Amino acid sequence: MSEHLEQPGDFIRDLVARDVRGGKHGGAVVTRFPPEPNGYLHIGHAKSIHLNFGLAREFGGVCHLRMDDTNPTTESIEYVNAIQRDVRWLGFEWGEKMFYASDYYPKLYAYAEKLIARGLAYVCHQSEEEMSKGRGTVTEPGTPSPWRDRPVDESLALFRKMAAGEFKEGEAVLRAKIDLASPNLKMRDPNIYRIKRAHHYRQGDRWVVYPLYDFAHCISDAIEGITHSICTMEFENARELYNWVLRATECNEGHAWLPEQTEFARLNLTYTVLSKRKLIELVEGRHVHGWDDPRMPTIAGLRRRGVTPEAIKAFCQRIGVSKNLSTVELALFEHVLRDDLNPRSPRVLAVLDPLKVVIENWPAGEVETLDAPYWPHDVPNVGSRTVPFSGELYIDRDDFMESPPKGFYRLSPGREVRLRHGYIVKCERVVKDADGRITELRCTYDPASRGGDGGGRKVDGTIQWVSAAHALDVEVRLYDRLFRVESPGADGRDFKEDLNPQSLTVVRAKVEPSLATASAGQHFQFERVGFFVVDADTREGAPVFNRTVSLKDSWSRAVQRAAGEAPAAAKPVKEPAKAPSAPAKVAELDPAAQALKDQHGLSADEARVLTSEPALRAVFDAALAKGAKAKGAAAMLANEVLGEMRARKVEAVPFGGAEVAELLALVEGGEVSTKQGRDVLAELFAHGGSPKAIVDAKGWRQVSDVGALEAAIDEVLAKNADAVGRFKAGNANVLGALVGMALKATGGRGNPKLVTELVKKKLGA
Ligand code: ATP
Ligand code: MG
Repeated sequence: MSEHLEQPGDFIRDLVARDVRGGKHGGAVVTRFPPEPNGYLHIGHAKSIHLNFGLAREFGGVCHLRMDDTNPTTESIEYVNAIQRDVRWLGFEWGEKMFYASDYYPKLYAYAEKLIARGLAYVCHQSEEEMSKGRGTVTEPGTPSPWRDRPVDESLALFRKMAAGEFKEGEAVLRAKIDLASPNLKMRDPNIYRIKRAHHYRQGDRWVVYPLYDFAHCISDAIEGITHSICTMEFENARELYNWVLRATECNEGHAWLPEQTEFARLNLTYTVLSKRKLIELVEGRHVHGWDDPRMPTIAGLRRRGVTPEAIKAFCQRIGVSKNLSTVELALFEHVLRDDLNPRSPRVLAVLDPLKVVIENWPAGEVETLDAPYWPHDVPNVGSRTVPFSGELYIDRDDFMESPPKGFYRLSPGREVRLRHGYIVKCERVVKDADGRITELRCTYDPASRGGDGGGRKVDGTIQWVSAAHALDVEVRLYDRLFRVESPGADGRDFKEDLNPQSLTVVRAKVEPSLATASAGQHFQFERVGFFVVDADTREGAPVFNRTVSLKDSWSRAVQRAAGEAPAAAKPVKEPAKAPSAPAKVAELDPAAQALKDQHGLSADEARVLTSEPALRAVFDAALAKGAKAKGAAAMLANEVLGEMRARKVEAVPFGGAEVAELLALVEGGEVSTKQGRDVLAELFAHGGSPKAIVDAKGWRQVSDVGALEAAIDEVLAKNADAVGRFKAGNANVLGALVGMALKATGGRGNPKLVTELVKKKLGA
């Protein structure tokens, strides 16, 4: 969530810390991330990457990148390259420590012969079906293969024949000879080598026999001197075999230790599939436009969608690491995403569904240039651009209603609205075509109303717009969730049946002219619409935008609406019992939540959270008793505090209403920024204390002392006489840079709004 929040502890970090403290492995920490190059990495892999590389970083160890490439039929160099690119993009580096399990084939082969020589493995000719029958069941022991007790020399000779290509696939396998009565079925003479006649992308046709995962993985770990071999829960049963192979082959190769396996729960996300097999199916079946389609949960897809490595890191920190099977709500990921994008996305004007507006009292042919800051006052960032305003504009069709319901604060006949950064306009007349469709609005403007939202007359609504003659026509790709239901493929359906047919809508939009020079990878917020990134398909002067995430959770609202209108058809399929984490998004508010919502004017989500989490409700009531405003307290508790509780897997809030009230006052009074407010919360969770004391101790308080700010600003202006000169000569763009430098001179603690005002005043702007 922030630089101030360190990676919270978890059982694996605790284990590694204990090992390091106790001097196990001589204090060394060697981890590895071992993908099979048979597909692109996805957000689940990111969890594992952050864990493995993160541990190495935190404990001064190293993390190896190892291609677990023991299956020649599915692997390729394209995947190796994509994996490397994605791990680097996430912010990790393996240096010299790049390995391939396929490089260990000669060693693995030798260890297999060693097992045979020790009487611990034999060549078996049973069919797959016979072997599986012979394994027995949980309640019955297995029955020996007829070849189980063949002489060592015979197995050795046969294994060599297997390797020399003298058998067909399936005619012979090598099996470890362990324990047919073991309660662990994995220990009942598992296969460890098989014949595969396929071309390996690195080894070519050199090999006819290939080791199986349970044999290759542990030995690869041992060869590399891995200390902590971390994998997902499905390998829990395999741990016994992992240890058996290590001891039976004695493969530590000079390292003073053998690796130890620890399992954690894999990441599952609602509305998402994370199995490589399914992702390949989506790509090959052309349900998406490739591995980097922005709808894919792959790292490449997320990158193209506009997700940043920092957002992925913040998400991984939030979900933490444990052994409990959990399905994380996609909404949480999107929440983290918005948090990450908010301070890095300049606000611009874009109209996705243009409706023409003609201002009848605008002086003919006149174009006015408006100064428009890129940032709202609560985002600690600076800079501005100009936007042209003229007598013909576009607004979004959604922002007009001919017969508006109560509470519609946008444009309608006879009513006024403010055009962002510009004037207040009033709708005088509606023009329609022969089919009754609205083609144009005739409006008047109030010449005295120019200014940002702050200045001049107040009206209830502000909307975005672009000047018709100056707007750029651009392609905008509106991405939505790839699946319509929380658990694609549940209840035995083909997961592809659950694809969301509306996951991509391409529109031609009108955007402000400053975006003509936008380049791939730049982030923007289209005001009131969502966060967007410039796509790689952008050509000069013709930017293409991808919607990274909308501002509001449009999905739940759409489902809610659909459920209200046509419950049978649109009702999403219920989550199976094993994934209880998803909230009932479509459910009506229960009476208690409804009452709370009405009493304090809360949102439905806030009311729902507060009524279903007694710990939060208690703090809410206490905060109100201490004078906090209900709206602010509810928002903080339902969003930030709940997020922290989940991230830390705690049931209780380790502070009370007084702290919430105090922190809210600090934020609402502008003494600390919203972001600093969140840092204070993280600190309250970690160490307790009072918000004021934390802010003082950490020096997080925004500086609003005019004298102190002026001193810093004067110094900056004096040092940058050049830039000041350019500004005075009419280059308005310099203002942003000067404000930026002034903010920096305050150690980043200057109140951004105040600093901007003061710089402007000093420049006579
Ligand atoms: P498949 O989907 O075919 O089972 P996989 O996802 O296990 O493959 P690998 O390439 O073997 O793919 O995974 C590399 C590492 O990433 C493994 O250690 C695996 O445990 C981990 N990993 C894979 N998926 C997840 C997930 N959803 N959450 C956390 N870790 C994961
Ligand atoms: Mg795997």
